[in-house]
Amino acid sequence: WNIVEWTRRCAGSLRQHVVCVASRVLPRHGYHALGITRVALAGSTGSIGTQTLDYIAQCEGQYEVVGLGVGTSAQAVIAQAQQWKPKVVAVADESARKEVAQALPGVEVVADQSALAELADVVVNGVVGFAGLSVTMSTLQRGKRLALANKESLIAAGPVVQPLRKIPGADIVPVDSEHCAIHQCLRSSIDNGREVHRLLLTASGGPFRGRSKESLATVTVQEALKHPTWSMGPKITVDSSTLMNKGLEVIEAHELFGTDFDSIEVVVHPQSVVHSMVEFNDGAVIAQLSMPDMRLPIAYALSYPHRANVPFGSIDWSSLARLDFEVPDTQTFTCLNLAYQAGRTGGTAPAWLSAANEVAVEAFLNGQIMWSRIPEVIDATMQQHDGLVPTIVEDILHADALARRFALQVLSA
Ligand code: MG
Repeated sequence: WNIVEWTRRCAGSLRQHVVCVASRVLPRHGYHALGITRVALAGSTGSIGTQTLDYIAQCEGQYEVVGLGVGTSAQAVIAQAQQWKPKVVAVADESARKEVAQALPGVEVVADQSALAELADVVVNGVVGFAGLSVTMSTLQRGKRLALANKESLIAAGPVVQPLRKIPGADIVPVDSEHCAIHQCLRSSIDNGREVHRLLLTASGGPFRGRSKESLATVTVQEALKHPTWSMGPKITVDSSTLMNKGLEVIEAHELFGTDFDSIEVVVHPQSVVHSMVEFNDGAVIAQLSMPDMRLPIAYALSYPHRANVPFGSIDWSSLARLDFEVPDTQTFTCLNLAYQAGRTGGTAPAWLSAANEVAVEAFLNGQIMWSRIPEVIDATMQQHDGLVPTIVEDILHADALARRFALQVLSA
């Protein structure tokens, strides 16, 4: 009698129960034998975190949620923990942590989200902004798979994150839809490094596509938060409206796939059905198409190298009359060029760019500055960049803090 074989044959809720019991009696490696993937979510109550749990709920018995991590959202993470029964909950904020610990007796409640990697096979990093760095690093350091939705950590800390990818078991599977698309396209090549001619990152163009600089002088927060095709958190939605999101994604693509900046191009594609493309040396272009739904890249990263069995919408070819492509308007949306510049400069320049952008976007969301000031704040901050080449993580933390200080000075000037 073989518990592994028996569990595989069980269906539906019975399988769920067997998995639950087996996960408590089998040693660590038993999970793999059962085909259960242990998942931890950093930033579990945000847009990526909740969509991840939505997908996991559709996959009975395939995943076990072993850890949840949040910054301050006590009530939301308590509700998630009561449903998903994780072993660890990480809460950064001290008073929120006390509240969570009181509400969840028997659950280990810790301060640091980097503790999540200890128990999991895959860590979904859905933290917003530079704060996600410790999760990215700790996951790779422990030789685990990182489902990366937090692009800022890779962009800011590329030079110190890259060596960690060589650790056995450490792997980054991008959750960003464009990079997930490129990851899929590259699977059609047996020698990516030599066969790729260029990466074509698609951009929806955001809510202000086609608008002139003058007409954008007075746009409101509400207008910037109305993304035409994707449902995402506020920071990334504002980044999409300035095209900084695409600029950051250019740097992210360079870090993930090792492609030169000259071979990464941005194509505006308003329908958000083509999620990105790879052109090979022979002129063949492979594209990945699907309905815009972040759960597809999330599911891809969790089930890789297999494909998820859950369909996230099917393209209706009879109603999809056309797919449009155009070049980005870099005169109006200057953030894209700022990102290319920072990427080409390298070193700590991407960390400065990302930090200045976070400060500027927060100031815009708080009503402190106009939307049109966002690129000005970033540009003025980048003028102060000290050219430091980072070798250790402290260099990155220093660069981030310094850039934030300069950006705040620019704001108050
Ligand atoms: Mg994206």
